[in-house]
Amino acid sequence: MKILMFRPSPPKETIGLQHVMVVEPLELEVLGATVEKDDEVQIIDFILEKRSPEYFIRKFAPDMLCVTGYITNVLQMKEYCTIAKSINPSIVTVAGGVHLEVNPADLDDISIDFRVVRNAVTAFPALIRHIKYNESLPPGVFRPREAVENLPEFDFSFPHPDRTLVSRYRKHYFYIFHDKVALLKTAFGCPYSCNFCFCRIITSDNFAQRPIEDVLDELETIEEKEIYIVDDDFLVSPSRLEQFMDGLLARNIKKSFLIYGRSDFIVAHVELISRFKELGLRTVIVGFESFDPDELEKYNKMTDPLTNEKAMQILNSLGIDCYATVILPPEWGHKDFDRLVEKLIELDVKYVNLQPLTPIPGTGYQVDKNKLLIHPGDYPKWDLAHVAITPEKMSVAEYYQCIIKAYERILFRPSVIKNHLRYSPKMLYKMLKGSWAVHKQYKKKYKEALKNA
Ligand code: SF4
Repeated sequence: MKILMFRPSPPKETIGLQHVMVVEPLELEVLGATVEKDDEVQIIDFILEKRSPEYFIRKFAPDMLCVTGYITNVLQMKEYCTIAKSINPSIVTVAGGVHLEVNPADLDDISIDFRVVRNAVTAFPALIRHIKYNESLPPGVFRPREAVENLPEFDFSFPHPDRTLVSRYRKHYFYIFHDKVALLKTAFGCPYSCNFCFCRIITSDNFAQRPIEDVLDELETIEEKEIYIVDDDFLVSPSRLEQFMDGLLARNIKKSFLIYGRSDFIVAHVELISRFKELGLRTVIVGFESFDPDELEKYNKMTDPLTNEKAMQILNSLGIDCYATVILPPEWGHKDFDRLVEKLIELDVKYVNLQPLTPIPGTGYQVDKNKLLIHPGDYPKWDLAHVAITPEKMSVAEYYQCIIKAYERILFRPSVIKNHLRYSPKMLYKMLKGSWAVHKQYKKKYKEALKNA
């Protein structure tokens, strides 16, 4: 069977990270590893490709087209399947991905033959057997108009991804200043329950970790030096982290790591973090979310501002970069933005992602519908960068302006620019270009909001 897999590019309307990061489509590489030997798989990464979906469908002439994506990609996923059907109605179209797993109705479309809602790693090869040998349809896979019910228990088995499927793209993958980066997934879900967070919803609050020896086996097969561990939180278990680091030493694995971690773990385990730094930890993405105790409580973050501040100080003192994330709630006025900027400068934060509070569909985060600025079907705008809830103390245009100014004040101060001079001119140019593109998108939003006021 010939299987074509499409990874969508972000729509033009989506503000975003695509300008400062492009990483490998790990979920497709994992699925590509599950097929039988006589099946032929090709992955097309439309973030990097210039040619059209039509071109690849006609050239490869697949029996099956698979598409995955985030909420921002829903329309493209349907479009790809519609194009495939228009070229050859007998192409079997299959959709999956984290948004579909939580909101399967959004991909209930006549152009999509099968929606893989649960346990893609086992359901996908079983679906292929269903098509090839007429075996029964696996649980967790649904046809159009079919009610999504009786979902099976979660199965967190994880074959090593077939990274060769994106060999021709690999040199282009990067995440901010981590050039030629490879992704590694060691766990599924998160043991915490922050109420705005989509990550934990994907696994219905289940949390599972791969055996460290298996993770290290996979790590040894990765050619790239830069490794981005995409667990929602890699810093969960001190003993597992210790086991991981022992393994790095024992196997003489020398890599640079970019991970997600919580501030409370960093503060509680300074020695472990310090040892991890010696073994390659370069950057931690920390969801501080806020430096206000009431806001942190409202988000059910289970941390406090002092812990956030201490974590930042520890990372700075150890020479570990921190990519900080902060949530911007609709209640904020000018003074709150000023306070945030002052706090981040005081803490010497050099990289920050400011996310307007966004009630991503599926999280259950309750917001009065009349206050929503993004229609549920306006998928490209659910990017955690658009202002999603009507601001209470200023106009939408002013709110966008506050975001733009905050970024400018935090990221373009002389000490930050001086810090970035250690990177290669090529990376600096890439980041400057990317930041400028995001800046332009925000300016456009500001002007649109002014016009609509
Ligand atoms: S925000 Fe982070 S810590 Fe909280 S539930 Fe999500 S992944 Fe876990």
